Amino acid sequence: MQLEATIHTLAKEVFGIQTLRPFQHVVIQRILELDRQSADHSGLLVTLPTGSGKSLCFMLPSLLVEGLTVIVYPLLSLMNDQVRRFTSKGIGCVAIQGGQTQELRKRLFDDLALQKCKVVITNAECMGQASVIAELARHRISLLVIDEAHTIVRWGEGFRPALAALGPLIAFLPIKQVLCFTATADDGVVEGLNHLIFTKHKPHVVRASSDRPNISYHVFRTLCKDHTLSTLLEYSLSRPAIVFCNTREGTHFACNAFLRSHPGIPCRYYHAGLDANQRKALEAWFENQKEGVLFSTNAFGMGVDKSNIRTVIHREVPGDALSYLQESGRAGRDGNHSRAVVLLDGTEKEGLAAVFSSTTACHRQSLLAELGEELEFCNGCDVCRHSVYTEREGEAALLRCIAVHPLHYSPSSLSALLSYKKAYNSFSRTLSGWTQKEVRSALHLLLAEGKVGTTKRHRRLFLRYEAYGQLLTSLHLYRMLKYGTKRTGKHTYKNVPYASPPVPSGETGATQAYTPSTETGFLMEEIVPVAHPR
Ligand SMILES: [Zn+2]
Repeated sequence: MQLEATIHTLAKEVFGIQTLRPFQHVVIQRILELDRQSADHSGLLVTLPTGSGKSLCFMLPSLLVEGLTVIVYPLLSLMNDQVRRFTSKGIGCVAIQGGQTQELRKRLFDDLALQKCKVVITNAECMGQASVIAELARHRISLLVIDEAHTIVRWGEGFRPALAALGPLIAFLPIKQVLCFTATADDGVVEGLNHLIFTKHKPHVVRASSDRPNISYHVFRTLCKDHTLSTLLEYSLSRPAIVFCNTREGTHFACNAFLRSHPGIPCRYYHAGLDANQRKALEAWFENQKEGVLFSTNAFGMGVDKSNIRTVIHREVPGDALSYLQESGRAGRDGNHSRAVVLLDGTEKEGLAAVFSSTTACHRQSLLAELGEELEFCNGCDVCRHSVYTEREGEAALLRCIAVHPLHYSPSSLSALLSYKKAYNSFSRTLSGWTQKEVRSALHLLLAEGKVGTTKRHRRLFLRYEAYGQLLTSLHLYRMLKYGTKRTGKHTYKNVPYASPPVPSGETGATQAYTPSTETGFLMEEIVPVAHPR
């Protein structure tokens, strides 16, 4: 009871917090209880979603424990943030980072020896230096905190071996409690941490659901991602927004394409290939943006505390649910409603793309299930809101034009016609909001999917009817109504087999191919026999 009262008084007086959130309370109490026990190297693994006040869970106990609190961050920007947080609350702390002179280090170590500071903030590389190990070994360490602990597993066995080397170091130092914090952890991360960090004892696990109820999940199917991005960011989705691309070049291309169509909307690109000063400048730029768009690889995010990001768009689907939830979790740290959007162009089928392609399973539920979590209530996704759109913008217009004028247009002449801003024929201006390049890339996707074909000579477009089925009937009807009787005069309504229903053929789910009647004499009869590539 006394402990509880102390926690609340400190929260109020030092941090200005009237009531702790339930999970903060549980974690803080747990840390302080373990501190009173005699066993060394007890461990705690805490998964708390972003925006739930994670840092307070170790900042507050650091005031109550006897020995040092050492906090390890994977990124410099996170260290600096934390130093700012401690100093703003009037708590002295020592930051040990790269590039410090010997004199400065000595002064910092003196502060520790004289007990001027009880908190050390550092990274794995610095902590592994002999002088730092020697200094830390002189003190009693009550809490060793590892924030963003999933990086130990993700990066430690790759390009940041110092992260994995924390394990033996922890075993060597006189540490009372090891605390690992992360926003999301799947079984692989938990197992990895048990293997690398909690080698002496298995940790107690405090796990809040990784669900972020203020984020809703949406999927847009598209023929051209650049076009969809541009319309969504201009008309439908709130900004500031981040667009995640899977390559560095991808961020350049997407950003430049967006800039061309929307010179008035501020946008930049960001990736790990830029030098540190550029990245810092970009982070500062985005921090102050109210309307901006940042095109980035997954290098952006951790350590950036921008709270009002309203939309996170994934141009490509990431490899796994953990990465997706981490990245989409950059949205809405302020707790206000935000959107996580995925663009699918139909070529992605494997892995996480299957989760997003589903039109029947709740996206949120499927994502959390990948982390081994169960969800009782979905606070918003396309499926649960019954707003799944399977249609791709522009597809109907393209197909209609090709069906009505088979073997007439080449991909470039058709894209020029459809994106033409002036009245030329009934199809010009149909896709007037698109650029010619966007229409062409949409056509290329349809060609790649085998829904449309081109002749070998002159590359004239035609529809591969066998790839459609149901669609055929309405297109056929359209063509018949528009030209069938008027132009040649010999076709009549009954000649057109639009009324014959498509028959499902077995497991593939494909509908039966249309076999044209020889009586109709339509040009498309000559086209249909082209084999559909499997
Ligand atoms: Zn749902």
